[in-house]
Amino acid sequence: MGYSGKPIVGDARTAAGDARAAAGHAGGPEISGGGNLPSLQVGPYKVTFLSGGRFRLDGGAMFGVVPKVLWNRVAPADERNRIRMRMSCLLIEGGGKRILVDAGCGTKVDAKFRDIYAIEGPEELLSDLASLKLTPDAIDTVALTHLHFDHCGGGTSRGADGAVRPTFPKARYLVRRQEWSDAHHANERNRASYLPENYDPLEASGQLQLHDDDIEIVPGVWMKNLPGQTLGHQGCFFDIPGSRALYVVDLVPTVAHLPLPFIMGYDLYPMTTLETKRAILRDATREGWLLLFEHDPDLFAIRVSGTEQKVEFQKVA
Ligand SMILES: [Zn+2]
Repeated sequence: MGYSGKPIVGDARTAAGDARAAAGHAGGPEISGGGNLPSLQVGPYKVTFLSGGRFRLDGGAMFGVVPKVLWNRVAPADERNRIRMRMSCLLIEGGGKRILVDAGCGTKVDAKFRDIYAIEGPEELLSDLASLKLTPDAIDTVALTHLHFDHCGGGTSRGADGAVRPTFPKARYLVRRQEWSDAHHANERNRASYLPENYDPLEASGQLQLHDDDIEIVPGVWMKNLPGQTLGHQGCFFDIPGSRALYVVDLVPTVAHLPLPFIMGYDLYPMTTLETKRAILRDATREGWLLLFEHDPDLFAIRVSGTEQKVEFQKVA
């Protein structure tokens, strides 16, 4: 049985169409990394979107039970049925700290992997940092939302000697214990997303710090559990009264996923995703939060209003 709720699809198409037009990228070239990086101020923090690269995933898998005739209007598929996505990471600066939230897929990926997922530009994570005159040493904390390859791969790099080491030598790496455990007990359904070389070197180097609960990474900024994609899946929540913002990660991967039933087929617990999404979008629309995207191909940040059933939004970045 599939989803067939036409009114919501209408909203999604309109919303995504408006967003693409507002972003000025309807049919235009994709923005590449480097140069003027999109950034915004959230309370006392400067938040810059660093490119972890671009990739493509199967459109059917990205929209779960929603039929292609509906999702293909908002996210057109390529000849291999894949849709365009970004791996946008957050650099949070303030209070003398620099925190990276997620790291893209990284440069360890081989030619076959690059081809399957149409990976482009994973090296932009470091070139974007360099464009801000920052070296990897400048990062104090790397907070990983979860351990799927498109989120954590850039946290480690392969050296000329073939060894894989943490990309950010002075950073502590935060991982939620539930996610760490699930990654190390992968099953037939989720194994393709969990590549041990992406995270086991963090433990070997002594930089790994597991946490059991939501954790405040700098005052007012939390790694917050948003269960559904995995049980330990997290967003990054700026709990700053009057300036609340949430990096929604895989809960709402693109603006086309704002309608409640638009849930990824990749999610291990889709009914949990639905309830997480309902609760988050209720609070976010009531209070006018910013939502920051990791995977939208064109948009980085929107401000939401309306209701969780019918989200309205304005492009911010
Ligand atoms: Zn993802």
